[in-house]
Amino acid sequence: SSLGQLDADLVDCRACPRLVQWREKVAAEKRAAYRHEEYWGRPVPGIGPPDARLLVVGLAPAAHGGNRTGRMFTGDRSGDVLYAALHAVGLANQPTSVRKGDGLALRDTRITAPVHCAPPDNKPTPQERDTCSRWLRAELALLVPRAVVVLGGWGWQALLPVLDDAGWAVPRPRPRFGHGVRVDLDGARGPLAVFGCYHVSQQNTFTGRLTPAMLEQVLRTAAEAAGI
Ligand code: SF4
Repeated sequence: SSLGQLDADLVDCRACPRLVQWREKVAAEKRAAYRHEEYWGRPVPGIGPPDARLLVVGLAPAAHGGNRTGRMFTGDRSGDVLYAALHAVGLANQPTSVRKGDGLALRDTRITAPVHCAPPDNKPTPQERDTCSRWLRAELALLVPRAVVVLGGWGWQALLPVLDDAGWAVPRPRPRFGHGVRVDLDGARGPLAVFGCYHVSQQNTFTGRLTPAMLEQVLRTAAEAAGI
């Protein structure tokens, strides 16, 4: 598919010097627990079928998670929380995502991020966000989402302008991020319901700011809005 071609092109991207250096340094040095593994160390493409009606948008791959396994939210605590919730609401066939080839299949759901390379301290610069937005724009042009769950305020800020460019009219001033916030967009691409959800990072899940029940609630509501 052309989405497959996009993903194949993406993994060769070297447009952000700082992130290329970081992702490769982490992959070379490794964390002790993973020293026998081959790290991916490249841009991490989205995962899920091209005709998915639900889109889940995070921030960027984690250094020892996606940057190690080559799959979004895979191999770290954030991903453990996310995939368990996706499975609980029927959007994934299994509650864990460990590595490529582990049998995971998403149902009507695609997971992607505004930045595809692991950034130092999980903080991409505004310039890196803008540079990577071309990939998100291209991905959105090939997808047919009816609802989006945005994990965290950073992803929200990054996604709204891209949605605007991609054919959904985003109101001005731009709607503010919040957990449980829902914004209904319309435009040339049809209706799109955008939902805010606290990010599945350990800062939120360890402190109870985001509980599995809260995450499942947003996913369930979004899946329903998407017609799933
Ligand atoms: Fe390319 Fe995006 Fe990675 Fe930058 S963050 S190098 S634009 S894939």
